[in-house]
Amino acid sequence: MNFDASQREHDRAQLLFPGGVNSPVRAFKGVGGHPLFIERGEGAWLIDADGNRFIDYICSWGPLLAGHAHPLILEAITRAAALGTSFGAPTPRESVLAEKVRALVPSMQRMRFVSSGTEATSAALRVARGFTRRDRVVKFEGCYHGATDSLLVRAGSGVETLGLPDSPGVPAALAQLTTVLPFNDVEAVRTHFRGPLGKQTACAIVEPVVGNMGVLLPRDGFLEALRQETQAAGALLILDEVMTGFRVARGGAQERYGIAPDLTCLGKVIGGGLPVGAYGGRDEIMAQVAPEGPIYQAGTLSGNPLAMAAGIAMLDLVAEPGFVERIEKSTQELCERLRAECKRAQVPAQINQVGSMWTLFFAGQPVFDYASAKRADTARFGHLHRALLEHGVYLPPSQFEAAFVSSAHGAAEVEATVVAFRAALAH
Ligand SMILES: *Cc1c(COP(=O)(O)O)cnc(C)c1O
Repeated sequence: MNFDASQREHDRAQLLFPGGVNSPVRAFKGVGGHPLFIERGEGAWLIDADGNRFIDYICSWGPLLAGHAHPLILEAITRAAALGTSFGAPTPRESVLAEKVRALVPSMQRMRFVSSGTEATSAALRVARGFTRRDRVVKFEGCYHGATDSLLVRAGSGVETLGLPDSPGVPAALAQLTTVLPFNDVEAVRTHFRGPLGKQTACAIVEPVVGNMGVLLPRDGFLEALRQETQAAGALLILDEVMTGFRVARGGAQERYGIAPDLTCLGKVIGGGLPVGAYGGRDEIMAQVAPEGPIYQAGTLSGNPLAMAAGIAMLDLVAEPGFVERIEKSTQELCERLRAECKRAQVPAQINQVGSMWTLFFAGQPVFDYASAKRADTARFGHLHRALLEHGVYLPPSQFEAAFVSSAHGAAEVEATVVAFRAALAH
């Protein structure tokens, strides 16, 4: 395969953007090599600047549950655009989308639209702190909630670690208000919420199925314990469903696992490929948000008409009976066949999958938290990634990112992926 045009574009972009990209993971640092510059997308396929075609398992990092350039979504955007692209005033479309969200995610009694997942989690955090009048937040090791200061904290392992910032520029004073606990560790949750810091804690925020250290599933009882312990301590539970929303089930992870959060964050799929995020939850909490209440949050382009139109078309697809289930079925089939290929090639691998999210870890033991994820063989993953590209399959360029399947990935794409995978394993 020839990547000359991508290479030229990368050289040009490096003069303009840090690392040549507008979001770090696009730079392929986790696997080596240079990013592909994309020309267009068609269903499950990506076409790069050199005209190479790839089966796309990134799907824009989650939003494209219906694949690239879905005709219903394109039509909705085009129609909306002809009427004007932004008003800075309320439009009926915002209520149409909100009613669809609430029908699928009933715990979001009221909500607010924003323009990204990061905005949604930042706002939800402020609302939780404002509502409880407490400052401390709990997050889980390896979970990513967007690039917001209080949550850009992972700290080391250990049962309970006072937060240290992951990024220069996050004030230590703020990071110290973040407690980081290991994912899937019920004891650590109990110890925190029953201890002295429990009553100072405004909220716990969690990815109910983790996507951001690769896909990790919650163990039986973990989310339930988190729900119970937060409630007993007077803290809120925020489910960050930016990735899982409308994807691991129509109603997200909260439907799949039967967990009732106080607040939910959405993003990605909700915008059908345009920038939309949302946060919302119990009425009495959302009543504290300005202008009804004192907690301030705002956005010039929030509820943007084009973004709302794309979201409405996307959620209409999600609401179709069988739509989400069909994608899950293709994903299951793909993962089963990839497991069989690994077994045949005697390659130690763990494929974690739920709904239409999956990750292949090169690891001999189950991967269920940060420590076990970190034991995966990232060099081997990088090698597989490059080999798969050569065979026309585009996986996320990191061992620690979820791969996504869309409704456009059919039997032919699954078959072609398995064939490419077999060849790539033999490299
Ligand atoms: C992607 C993601 C975010 C951040 O969303 P952006 O739209 O990139 O700001 C937050 N939380 C989770 C779980 C995500 O996967």
